[in-house]
Amino acid sequence: MGIEKLIRKDLLAFGGYSAATAPETLEGKIKVATKDIIKLDANENPYGCSPRVNKALSQYKQFNIYPDDGQEKLRKLLAGYVDIDASYIVAGNGSNQLIDLLIRLLVSKSDEVINCTPTFGIYSFSTKLCGGTLVEIPRDNDFNIDIARVKSAVNKKTKIIFIANPNNPTGNLTPKKDIIELLGTGVSVVVDEAYYEFSRQTVLPLMKKYKNLIVLRTFSKWAGLAGLRVGYGLFPPGIADFILRIKIPYNVNVAATTAVAESLKDIGYLMASVQKLIAERKRLFTRLQRIGWLKVYPSQANFILCRVLNMEAKELYKRLQVEGILVRYFDQPRIKDCIRISVSKPEHTDALIKALRSKSLRQNRRMDK
Ligand SMILES: *Cc1c(COP(=O)(O)O)cnc(C)c1O
Repeated sequence: MGIEKLIRKDLLAFGGYSAATAPETLEGKIKVATKDIIKLDANENPYGCSPRVNKALSQYKQFNIYPDDGQEKLRKLLAGYVDIDASYIVAGNGSNQLIDLLIRLLVSKSDEVINCTPTFGIYSFSTKLCGGTLVEIPRDNDFNIDIARVKSAVNKKTKIIFIANPNNPTGNLTPKKDIIELLGTGVSVVVDEAYYEFSRQTVLPLMKKYKNLIVLRTFSKWAGLAGLRVGYGLFPPGIADFILRIKIPYNVNVAATTAVAESLKDIGYLMASVQKLIAERKRLFTRLQRIGWLKVYPSQANFILCRVLNMEAKELYKRLQVEGILVRYFDQPRIKDCIRISVSKPEHTDALIKALRSKSLRQNRRMDK
C-alpha cells in the first residue's frame, strides 16, 4: 500500500456525493442520442439562462484577470435583489460551497449537526467531511419536521440545524412558526431557500430579529445558471465576515459574476420562465396522479417526488433512462421506493407520461385509474 495509508481514518468509509447523471456519460450506453435526452433529474431550468448572459459572456474581454476576491460589486447587486445590506452577503461557487464553508467555520470534531431527513445530501456530506457528528431526525410520513424532537435533540454540542425550505427531494415547506421555534433554541438555523423563486416563501424578514438565522439562495434553479455555479448566503454580518476570510480566494469566477449581473437586469424574462414552470408543475402533478401505481407528493419547488407502488423505484429509474428520460433515484432510507422528477417543458411532461404508460412498463397498467 502506498500513500493511501495516509488517508484520514475517519474518511475511509466516506461514500462521496451521488450526483445527477451527466447525459454525455450515457453516450453509446442507451439508444437515445445525447442531445435528445430529457433531463428531469437535477432541477435545472429547461428554459435556460437569460439571453443577456450569453451575449455578455461572448463579448467579455477579461477572462485573463482574476475576479474581485471581496466580491464587492457582486454583493452589492445581490443586496439590491434581496433588499438587505451587503454586509450580510457572501457569494459562493454554488450555494453548496457556502454550506461547506459554514460547516467548516462552526463544526469541529464531535460537534453535532441536526439534519431533518430525508433531505438534501450536502448537509451530511460536508458534516462528515469535517468530522462532525450527524444527528438525524426523521420527518413524519408527509415529510413534516418533528419540531419537538429536533428541539429535544439540541444540546451543548449542537452547532447547526439544517432546513431545506421547500425541502429537497420532498417539495414541502416548513411553516414559519416552526422555524421560529427552532430559532428559539439559540443554535444556528440554516434555512436553505434554493427554490424560493418557485415557493415565494421566505424567512428573510426574521433576520433582523434572530441573530442565529442564516438563509441560503442560488442562481442554479430559477435563473438557469446551474452550470456556472453561483449561489449566495445571508449571514449575520459577523459570520459573513468570517466566511469571506476562510473561503478559497476568487471562489466565484468572472463568468458567474457577469451572469448574475445580467440575470438581475432581466428578472422579468426569468420570472416568466419560473411562472411557466409553476404552471407546468400543476399539470405534471395532475398527470402523475392519474397513474395508479404512483403516490405523488405536493410540491412548492420545481420538482415532484413520487412513491413507486408496484416495482422497485430503481428499476423504474433504469427503464426511463433506457428511454432517454433521466429522473432522480435515491438509495436512502424512507425514499428508496421514490423517484424525483424535475418540472420541465410541457412536451417533456408529455414524453414522460407516455413512457410511464408505455408497453415496457405494461405490467403496471392494470393499476391505472
Ligand atoms: C439545488 C439545491 C441547492 C443549490 O446548489 P448550488 O450549489 O447553488 O447549485 C442548494 N440547496 C438545495 C436544497 C438544493 O436543492
